[in-house]
Amino acid sequence: MHKYTIDFYNYILYKQFVMLKALFPGSFDPPTNGHMNIIKRASEIFDELEIVISVNVHKSYLFQPEERFEMMSSLVENYINVRVHLWDKLIVDFAEKVGARVIVRGVRALGDFVHEFELSMINRGLDAKIETFLIPTDPEYFVLRTSSIKELVMVGGDVSSMVPPVVESALKSRLTGA
Ligand code: ADP
Repeated sequence: MHKYTIDFYNYILYKQFVMLKALFPGSFDPPTNGHMNIIKRASEIFDELEIVISVNVHKSYLFQPEERFEMMSSLVENYINVRVHLWDKLIVDFAEKVGARVIVRGVRALGDFVHEFELSMINRGLDAKIETFLIPTDPEYFVLRTSSIKELVMVGGDVSSMVPPVVESALKSRLTGA
């Protein structure tokens, strides 16, 4: 058999046993339609997508880790290849634990890109096996930012096109007592 034919069969064998797993880390405080857009697109590319909700004692969050976990878990319950985790250590340690090499991050404007580029350098410095894949947001999610969504809710603005309904009610009850 020709050399390349053997390579092809080896590749098929390899693909049967090796799943391409990616991590999508973030605060998700709370999850927005922008996050959900990245999750949908990444879940269609990778065999398995692990959403890693960060728990950082030095950061102040609007929602407790368990609340963010519950919200995200309910939002991805229909995806068979997506799982949600809480993690309070380095993301590269999580990658090592679950045998993943790819970190997915979403980017909106140039400012995000600069930040994400630096983060990817840091993660690669910590673990040279790690690759970061940046997914540009779809145009309708370009202006979605958790900080501005929270401000809008506080002044009674309509955020129903920016976050899933479960998040909208959680935001209203947390920020306005409604
Ligand atoms: P972090 O605190 O780690 O930045 P976030 O929850 O703010 O966590 O964001 C998680 C990821 O989702 C980041 O890569 C961020 O750039 C991306 N992201 C946030 N909002 C959007 C959006 N509207 N469109 C695409 N990606 C987004």
